[in-house]
Amino acid sequence: MTTIGHAIVLGGSIAGLLSAAALARSAERVTVVDRDVLPVDGPEAMTSRRGVPHGDQVHHLLSLGHRRIEELLPGISEELLELGCERYDDVADFSQFVGGAWRMRVRSDLIVTMFRRPVFEWAIRRRVLALPNVEVVKGMAVGLIGSDDRSRVIGAKVRGGPGGELLGELVVDATGRGSRSPHWLEDLGYDKPQERHVRIYMGYSTYTVRLPEGALPEGLAGIAVSATPADPFGVAIRPCGNGLHDVAAYGMAGNYPPDDLDSLEGFFEGLSSPLIAQVMKKATVTSEIVPYRMPGNQRRMWEDLDRRPEGFVVLGDAVTSFNPIYGQGMTMAALGATLLGGAVEKAGSVTGVADAVQAELGVLAQVAWDLAVGSDSVYPQAEYENTEPPSARDKAWGRAQSAAQSAEGTVRVAMRATALYMDPSYLEAPAVRDVVARWLDSGRTPDESVRDPLHPPAVTEGYVDSADLLLGRVV
Ligand SMILES: Cc1cc2nc3c(=O)[nH]c(=O)nc-3n(C[C@H](O)[C@H](O)[C@H](O)COP(=O)(O)OP(=O)(O)OC[C@H]3O[C@@H](n4cnc5c(N)ncnc54)[C@H](O)[C@@H]3O)c2cc1C
Repeated sequence: MTTIGHAIVLGGSIAGLLSAAALARSAERVTVVDRDVLPVDGPEAMTSRRGVPHGDQVHHLLSLGHRRIEELLPGISEELLELGCERYDDVADFSQFVGGAWRMRVRSDLIVTMFRRPVFEWAIRRRVLALPNVEVVKGMAVGLIGSDDRSRVIGAKVRGGPGGELLGELVVDATGRGSRSPHWLEDLGYDKPQERHVRIYMGYSTYTVRLPEGALPEGLAGIAVSATPADPFGVAIRPCGNGLHDVAAYGMAGNYPPDDLDSLEGFFEGLSSPLIAQVMKKATVTSEIVPYRMPGNQRRMWEDLDRRPEGFVVLGDAVTSFNPIYGQGMTMAALGATLLGGAVEKAGSVTGVADAVQAELGVLAQVAWDLAVGSDSVYPQAEYENTEPPSARDKAWGRAQSAAQSAEGTVRVAMRATALYMDPSYLEAPAVRDVVARWLDSGRTPDESVRDPLHPPAVTEGYVDSADLLLGRVV
């Protein structure tokens, strides 16, 4: 049912495209504006582009985001598989070495789909741009247009392409972490949102490889050695579709991995598990090595503004951008788009939509923020601006949770479900909380049997269902 006229979405990456998909259900027409050409056909359509400089970095999709994207674009999960993306059990098919111990593996319901981001973005793009009421315009958004009394945003100023002024009932800012919209709003006489930061200064070097049969230990689809405060470097080797693996070397707290093959060889040798170097010796490199550095978590408190114009909504990284290790950004983009579509449908107009969407998104962003900041705060070098670090008690609890994942299937699955569904209530399940409390009280650390850095554990007998944890069916 059509409820609004013209909606303008600034930015045509994940947040912008998903917003367009959500709005296309109730807007007469949707115009997506991006500074890049957004190709649908031809070989460049599935490569990364200039406007998304992080496009070649390893990208994992959380289950919650996957669910929302499937709701916005029904059938996309199957399409991803047809494009060569691969599905795995997040807990059983991967091994992770953290702080000198392997995390346990157990069969679970936590199935994830692995891909290269350009393929994923293209799969979304071709679906969204094929919608009859969605069009794309190449141009640079440079400001907002306010109504005479400035109570509403009635369009956007766009440079390049057809250029000039685009008028519409609703403008969505999905221009990413570097969004200029706080300044655009100031130009209309409104306050800028407060910014919060937790800086951890991290860097990636990412490339793809082909691994021969048997390069990884039997039964494993991927392997990771995680950074810790004692050793701030890590590597994840994970499948990314079509038989390839992404290799993401990374460093935290201002320690950056090298970005050339020779130096990376030495880097792998220096990791706490020699298994990575052994696997990488067998790998055939299939792409360039692409480095990327970022300061860390950034949150703009759009929900806290005392006043805002009607008809203007901010989504995606323009609201919250996280340390990418936690893989939350695309899911936040999907959650924002879903809220936006629902709010417009419910209101039947744009009145009140901005307030409602920013308020609801703020609640979800806080959950994701707490998860990311909780993990980054293990580094004493983390810098906090306009936000507090977690308490000493929370940090001790976090250490016990981490240690318990070496031997307790319930805790391992609850931790992954919390991350994949951005829902800490898995960790509140009695079967999980009581176990963690025992580890904390006894000061227990991982057993010797999981400390051999060359030998990841086999999959443990049994199956843990994350939904059963929530329902209290696991004791
Ligand atoms: C190294 C790295 C790894 C990451 N890994 C993951 C991961 O594993 N999982 C995950 O979920 N997320 C990950 N993310 C985050 C993820 O990339 C973003 O959350 C996701 O792309 C959604 O961002 P967005 O659409 O809001 O902005 P972006 O992806 O930054 O896109 C912004 C778009 O706006 C356009 N644009 C910008 N300014 C203008 C303008 N003025 N006018 C017109 N167009 C403009 C750009 O061209 C671009 O298309 C990672 C990020 C980084 C940096």
